[in-house]
Order: sequence, then structure tokens, then C-alpha cells
Amino acid sequence: MKAGFLGFGLALALGTAGQAEEAEGPWPDGAKAAVVLTYDDALTSQLDNAVPALDAAGFNGTFFLSNIKQADVARWRAAAESGHELGNHTIFHACPAAVWATDPRNTAEDYTIPSILSEIEQQNVMLHAIDGKQRHGMATPCGASLAGGQDYIDELRAAGSVDYVRAAGATGNEVRDGLDGVDVMNVPARGFPDDVTGEQLIAYAEQARQGGGIAVFLFHGVAGDYLQVSDAAHRELIAWLAAHRGELWVTTLAEAVERAGAQR
Ligand SMILES: [Zn+2]
Repeated sequence: MKAGFLGFGLALALGTAGQAEEAEGPWPDGAKAAVVLTYDDALTSQLDNAVPALDAAGFNGTFFLSNIKQADVARWRAAAESGHELGNHTIFHACPAAVWATDPRNTAEDYTIPSILSEIEQQNVMLHAIDGKQRHGMATPCGASLAGGQDYIDELRAAGSVDYVRAAGATGNEVRDGLDGVDVMNVPARGFPDDVTGEQLIAYAEQARQGGGIAVFLFHGVAGDYLQVSDAAHRELIAWLAAHRGELWVTTLAEAVERAGAQR
């Protein structure tokens, strides 16, 4: 509840009902934990396999787009219209050369902080053209926020171009903390190896359910493209989430970040 005279007055007027609301915890509708499914790199297998599986369960995912294919634009727009979140993953996916082999001009080493900030702003324009939204979140390519060897997060924060930054490197231990105390410009997410099973995916969500925090999944290909999760493992996770709908808030990262911000 927001502080101030109105909130104070409401709490007094509501009495015990107001206190019960306060005791509800960080997530809406009494959910014990939040689960966010994120998908990187604008891969066609996500449109083919992830979006339909999410839609069938009534869940919204977060898709961080880079190197967008023109043939997929209409489908990304439709996904956004049906409630999925589109996020910024830069235009050309600048990663350290040692991590991601690409055109040397598109490696993190070849960027400056102003050039990457300008690319992020241009990708915001692209996303706006697709989904009509004014504001977007972002995921750093390869989980690294480097341009010409320097970290650009402070400058990105000062520029205010994105609402949050999803990083990588979540181990699962932080799920107990929710997003409280987590820097929204460095939200950890967890990736999984190619041969991950549904059971292993569920274990990460289960950790969040037990701990009352948040689990942010990081996927690439879904039964296609690269760094794949199998369709079966992905569907097993979705089915488990659907079976625990009352206890888990399955949402987009934008909504989870907004909720956490409002609770502070
Ligand atoms: Zn990526």
C-alpha cells in the first residue's frame, strides 16, 4: 500500500481488513511466488512452440528481441497484442567476441558506451513500431553489459531508456529474496543446458514456491534453433505451473518488476 495520508486513513478505516491485506506478501492474489518465463533472440521456434504453449495455458511470457526477422514481425505483433511482453535485446546482439562469434563490427569490443546506448534506443523505436508501447525492459546480450571493455549499466540507468535490465547468472538461491533488494538494472535469470528435463525446470520453479521469491527462466530455442529446450520439457514446466496456478503468479518481467517497485 502506498504511504501517505490517504493510505494511513484507509488503513484506519479498514481496520483488521487492512492489516490482512498488508500481510498478504509481495505477490498479488495471495500467490506464494512469482515465475517469469523469458525467451531471448527473437527465435522463430519461440513463435512456433513457446507462444502457443503459453497461450493454451493462459500465461504471458517475455520475449527479448534482437536481429528480428521481417517475416516474423506480424507474429511478434500478434504475440504482443495477446499479452506477451516484447523486450529490448539490442539490435545486433553485441557480445564479447570470445562468447559469441559474429561480425567483428557487432562484437562488444567494437562498441563505445554512446554507440551501444544509441543502438538500445533505436531498438526501443523498433519495438514501439511493433507493439505500440512507450516503455520497454531489456536483457543484456550474453548477460554482459560491456561496450569497448567498459560496463555501460550506469550510463544506461542515467539515460533512463529502459525500465529494467534482465541479466543472467541466477543460481536459484536468490529466489528466496523475491525482487526485494535486487537492482532492477540487474535482475538475475537462470539458463539451462540443452538436455534439461521438465523435472529440472520444475525444480527451479518449486524452489521459488518454497521460498516465496521469484524464478526468472531464460530460454533460447524451443524445439528448434539453438540452445534448445525440448518441446516436452517446456510443456511439462507449463503444465506444472498451470497445476499450481493458485500459488504461483506466472507473469511478465515488466509486471513483476513493477509490482516489486510498488511494494518498496
Ligand atoms: Zn541473446
